[in-house]
Amino acid sequence: MAIPLRLLIIEDSDADAELVIHELTRGGYSVTAERVHTSDDLKAALDRDKWDLAIADFTMPQFSGTAAMTQVRDIDPEMPFIFVSGTIGEDLAVTAMKTGAHDYIMKGNLKRLVPAVARELREAANRQSRKRAESRLAHMAYHDALTDLPNRSLLFERLHQALVESARTGEPLALMVLDLDGFKPVNDSLGHLAGDRVLKQVAAQLRSLLREVDTIARLGGDEFALLLPRTNGDGAAAVARAVVDRLRRPLTLDHQALVVGGSVGIAQFPQHGDTPEVLLQKADIAMYVAKSGNLGYAFYAEDRDHAAHQRLTLINELRAGIEAREFVCAYQPILDLRTGRIMSVEALARWKHPARGFLTPRDFVDVAEQTGLIEALTFVILDRALTEWVEAEPRLALPVAVNLSVRHLRDPELPDQVGDLLKRKGVSPEMLVLEITESVIMSDPRRSIAVLSRLHAMGVKLAIDDFGTGYSSLGYLQQLPVDELKIDRSFVQRMALGDEAIVRSIIDLAHNLGLIVVAEGIESVTVRDRLVELGCDAAQGMFFAEPGSPETVRALVQST
Ligand code: C2E
Ligand code: CA
Ligand code: CA
Repeated sequence: MAIPLRLLIIEDSDADAELVIHELTRGGYSVTAERVHTSDDLKAALDRDKWDLAIADFTMPQFSGTAAMTQVRDIDPEMPFIFVSGTIGEDLAVTAMKTGAHDYIMKGNLKRLVPAVARELREAANRQSRKRAESRLAHMAYHDALTDLPNRSLLFERLHQALVESARTGEPLALMVLDLDGFKPVNDSLGHLAGDRVLKQVAAQLRSLLREVDTIARLGGDEFALLLPRTNGDGAAAVARAVVDRLRRPLTLDHQALVVGGSVGIAQFPQHGDTPEVLLQKADIAMYVAKSGNLGYAFYAEDRDHAAHQRLTLINELRAGIEAREFVCAYQPILDLRTGRIMSVEALARWKHPARGFLTPRDFVDVAEQTGLIEALTFVILDRALTEWVEAEPRLALPVAVNLSVRHLRDPELPDQVGDLLKRKGVSPEMLVLEITESVIMSDPRRSIAVLSRLHAMGVKLAIDDFGTGYSSLGYLQQLPVDELKIDRSFVQRMALGDEAIVRSIIDLAHNLGLIVVAEGIESVTVRDRLVELGCDAAQGMFFAEPGSPETVRALVQST
């Protein structure tokens, strides 16, 4: 099979050109050649077509070989270029090569031509595929693989350029952050592939709404950024409205209509900042305000957003802290009031914050619950408690209690996840107590009962926490598969003031239902003694022991 070769031959003599073509044809090429011998012809040929190879004479009456080569290089720096000429002397040949020719062949020695052409074509192909690989890599470094939109790096580069440009011309610009509202449920219920298709559709819709000069970037997950150069507040608001409106219309996925919806936050140059980092952060805060207020879109506003800013910082730190396992457990003993011995411990979350030191649940549990991060956090605590309390010292280990929050009881997967973890750790289910606040159970009793029953059937022990604050109806209480009631510490502490009616009736109620009753927040010997008299089974509080490290609490277990 002859190899097709598009040859540009720069030569004044027809006969010499024929010789070259003949030699190449004999060497196995199917040559399509064009001969030119003036600068104008060469330009026309280069403009009109793409050539595989140029072969040039060195000295021609109307043209010089080196000038021809410069002209070729200007258009196509990579095209193989070979001189085929009469003797020109070594010096000139060296000069020719230095200016970028790939080879120099004497007309009297044409047998060198075919191997030289083969080599140059091969090398040109290599250069080209290397270049393609490089540009593919460069593209990947700057684009999101799923949507092919610019990624955060490219956004930052363009934002930087746009800011320099705006500072020079005095024109404003806007940066927006868009976060989809209903993406997670789509992804969770229809799967990642469906989620990916939704993101692609959103990307295409955004593209259709914006101008050519605007940049749409994917920041990750379901978050996008829009950079609008030369745009003032009114312009930005119009775009944000259009985006929000469009996302309120249903998308179609396999004949199914889905509404994802989105919230947009807007930061402006020069009002809100002059660096990419600051503008993005402020657009993010504004987005957060828009989302939590259900506003569609919002501009950044200094004073209003201070609290939002702090909260957002906390959310981001919380997310990173969970990832980095900055959360540890403090263990507080729970004593059997009849024997005075420790019968179990409660694992309480502590955050070893890199800058603010140890934080207690009051500083982070609410935000973790509101953002859904509590689910990951609980598993960090569960994992730790099972590992460092139960698994590390199986002979000494007493059951450990871990607190659940409201989201877990709505999550039908929780029982299996807990079961898997127990299996993985080789811990028997009776070693785990899960504490659930009374108000949480009562906010959705039916669903709670379903999840709790499955946990109970696995052998996990269950306790109702902060009992007395949640107005349980007795009817539900009887149906709940629980083992323990923990009396809220506010009632226990009122005993010190002589008010013990509530504690007494909770103890009676618990015993009637066949449940163990634990009093929380015991701070004095008087309260302890009175609880013993009332027949309370177990107790927890500073009077006995503060929450401490596994080692401290293990030492206590051994000494009592
Ligand atoms: P809680 O489950 O009622 O935990 C008992 C709280 O009372 C702990 O506060 C403990 O340090 C404190 N305490 C113990 N003895 C006494 C005492 O004698 N007097 C007084 N005044 N307080 C005492 P902590 O560790 O700050 O936890 C507060 C709440 O945070 C917990 O209340 C629990 O609802 C929640 N929490 C703790 N860890 C977790 C967790 O891992 N996940 C979830 N979802 N919530 C957690
Ligand atoms: Ca608790
Ligand atoms: Ca409690």
